[in-house]
Amino acid sequence: MGRPLIAEIDLDALRHNYCLARELAPHSQALAVLKADAYGHGALACARALDDLAPAFAVACIEEAQALRDGGIDKPIVLLEGIFHGDELPRVESLGLWMAVHSEWQVDALLDYRPRHPIPVWVKVDSGMHRLGFSPERLPEIWQRLAGAPGYACDLHLMSHFATADALETRYFRRQLALLNELATRLDAPTCLANSPATLAWPQAHGAWNRPGVMLYGSDPLEGANDASRALRPVMTLHSEIIAVQELDAGEPVGYGGRWIAPRPSRIGVVAAGYGDGYDRHAVDGTPVLVDGRRTVLAGKVSMDMLTVDITDLPEAAIGSRVTLWGRDPGGEVLSVDEVARHCDTISYTLLTGILPRVPRRYH
Ligand code: PLP
Repeated sequence: MGRPLIAEIDLDALRHNYCLARELAPHSQALAVLKADAYGHGALACARALDDLAPAFAVACIEEAQALRDGGIDKPIVLLEGIFHGDELPRVESLGLWMAVHSEWQVDALLDYRPRHPIPVWVKVDSGMHRLGFSPERLPEIWQRLAGAPGYACDLHLMSHFATADALETRYFRRQLALLNELATRLDAPTCLANSPATLAWPQAHGAWNRPGVMLYGSDPLEGANDASRALRPVMTLHSEIIAVQELDAGEPVGYGGRWIAPRPSRIGVVAAGYGDGYDRHAVDGTPVLVDGRRTVLAGKVSMDMLTVDITDLPEAAIGSRVTLWGRDPGGEVLSVDEVARHCDTISYTLLTGILPRVPRRYH
C-alpha cells in the first residue's frame, strides 16, 4: 500500500475535455498540448489516451517529443518553441517533428540545413505577448524566405499567442486578434492562435488549428464564465488520507510558526501530503479540502510531507478518512484545482505541473 498519496488520472475525462475543445471549434483541428509532462498528468499516458482523437500533439522541447516517440506515438508533434540550438535539426527531421520558428537565427539554421524530408514550419509572430515571435514588420520577409526554400514551404502556418484571452477586459485581446487577422489575410496563411480560453470563448480566434492546453486537464481558465467551461471535467484527483488526529484546546497553535490557532476546542486531521509532493506551501488557512467528500479547510502551514485540516465539524473523520486535495471525490463532490489555486495566490497550471514524481500517478 505505502504512503496514501496518489494522483488519480481520469483518462475518460481527458477525452471528454478534448472532444469539447473539438466541438467548440468544428472547423479547426485541435492540437493537444502535452508539454510539461502533460501539465503533470503524464504525457505518454495522455498521448495514448488521445491518440485516436487528436490529429497532432504539442510539446515544449525535443526531449519531450523524443519521449513520446519512444513510447510509440507517431502522430505529428509540434515543438512550440522550435529548436534551442541549430544542431537539433537532424533530430527534428529524424523524429518527424513540426516546429515553430520565432527568431532570425532559427530561420538561418533552417535554411542552412536543407532537410531531405520536409519539415513543417509554423512561423510565430509577436502580436502583443512580447515573449517570442517576429515583429509584424519583419514577418512578411521571414515568410518569403521560408516559403521560397525547399523543404519548408510545404506547410507554413502562422502562429501567435494571446496574452489576455482569459481576462474580462477584452481590448488588448481584440487588438491582437485584429492584427493577426490582417497578417493572415495578407500572407494568405492558415493560423494557429487559440489557447484554452480562446478555444472556449473566442470563436473569432479559431484558426486552421487551435492549441488547447489546460482545459484538456479540466481546469477552467474562465472561472465558469460560460457553459463550455462549466462542462469541463477534472482529470487529476489528488487524494490522500488522515494519518493522525490531534485534539486541541482553544488557543493552541498548529504547525510551523503556529500560524493557525484553534478558535475553539478543535480536532485536527494530519494528512499525508506536503510541499515535498508539490502541494503549494503558499496555501492559506481556509484553503478548501474534502474529507470523506465533505468540505473543510486547511489549518496551519503546509509542511514538507504533511498538511493539517480542521475536522472539528466532521465527527466521523478519523485516521484513514479519505482526503481529496483537488479533483473529484468518489462520492461525486468536486473541488476544482482552480479554487485551490486561488487560495495559493497562483493558477492551476503551477499546481498541476508542480506535483512531484514521488506522487504515483494511477490511470483509469
Ligand atoms: N500554446 C503555447 C505557445 C503555450 O505556451 C501554451 C501554454 O502555455 C499553450 C498553447 C496552451 O495554453 P493553455 O494551457 O492556456 O491552453
